[in-house]
Amino acid sequence: MIEKLTIIGIGLIGGSLARALRDAGYVGEVTGYGRSVGNLQQAVELGVIDRVEVSLADAVRNADMIVLALPVGCMGEILEQLAPVLADHAVVTDVGSVKASVVAAARAALKARFAHFVPGHPLAGTEQSGVAASQADLFRQRRVILTPESETDPAALDAVRAMWEAAGAQVATLSAADHDRILAASSHLPHMLAYNLMDLVVRHDDHRAILECAATGFRDTTRIAGGDPVMWRDICLANRDALAAVLRQYKDDLEALTAAIEKGDGEWLLETFTRAKHTRDTLNKKFGIQG
Ligand code: NAP
Repeated sequence: MIEKLTIIGIGLIGGSLARALRDAGYVGEVTGYGRSVGNLQQAVELGVIDRVEVSLADAVRNADMIVLALPVGCMGEILEQLAPVLADHAVVTDVGSVKASVVAAARAALKARFAHFVPGHPLAGTEQSGVAASQADLFRQRRVILTPESETDPAALDAVRAMWEAAGAQVATLSAADHDRILAASSHLPHMLAYNLMDLVVRHDDHRAILECAATGFRDTTRIAGGDPVMWRDICLANRDALAAVLRQYKDDLEALTAAIEKGDGEWLLETFTRAKHTRDTLNKKFGIQG
C-alpha cells in the first residue's frame, strides 16, 4: 500500500490512476499538483484526490510515490524542479507515451536519484482529456509497460509494478528504445492517420458534402483525432525518428496501393485486404485486443 501518493497532472490518466488506487484501497492520501488550480479543485470535488498543493515542494514533501501524468513535453521542466525537493525514500514514475526522451530528461535532472525513477506507460486511454473523463476501471486488464534502465533500483521497480497491478493492470517490461519503436507503429501511426484523414477532408472542396455523408466507418477511423493536440504534438516531437520511419514505410505502402488501384490489379487488392482482414478478425483471440 502507498501511504502518500502525489500525482502531478490530474487529467485523464492521473485522475484514473488515483480513482483506481482509491477503489482498490491501495492508497492512503492522494495529493494533486498541476497547472490550473480550478481543475485541481474539480478533482477534489469529484473525490479523485484528497488535497491540492500550489507549491511543488509542498506537494511532494513526505510522498512515498510521485506519478508524473503530464504531456511528455513538460516532463523535463517538472523533473528539474522536482530534483531538489524529493524526499530520500520517494519513488518517481511517469505515464508518458514516449520513453527514451523521458528517461534522458530524468537521468539529467535527477542524477544520483535517477535509480528511484521508474519509466512507465499504461496502454490504455481514450480520446478525452481532463479529470472529468477519468475512470476507475481504465487500466483494468490493460497492459502497462515499464522500461527500467540498468541503474533502476529493483525495490522502486517492484513498488511501481505493484501500484499498477493494484489498479488492475498487467505489467510488462521493455527497453525504452523497443517501446518507442513498437508504439510508433501500434499507437502513434494510427493517430497520425486519423488526424491526417480528418484534416484532408476538412480541406477538400466538397468537405461539407463529405462530412454529411460520413457514416460509421469514417467515425470509427477518425475517433482518435479527438485526442488532445498538445499531447500528440509532444509525442511526435519526442519520438520523431521512430515515427518518421514508420510513416515513410506507410507512404511507400500507400504508393503501392495507389498503383494497384490505378492498374486495376484486383488480385493484389484481394490478397492484401484478405491478409489484413484475417489479422483484424483474429486480434482479440491472438493478442487479447478488445474492440
Ligand atoms: P490530460 O487529461 O490533458 O491531463 C494532463 C494534465 O497535465 C492536466 O492536469 C494538465 O493540467 C497538466 N498539464 C498540462 N500541461 C502542463 C504544464 N505545462 N505544466 C503543468 N501541468 C500541465 O492528459 P492525459 O491524457 O492524462 O495524458 C497525460 C500523459 O499520459 C501524457 O504524457 C500522455 O502521453 C500519457 N498517456 C495518455 C494516454 C491517453 O490515451 N490520453 C494514454 C497513455 C498515456 P490542466 O488541468 O491545467 O490542463
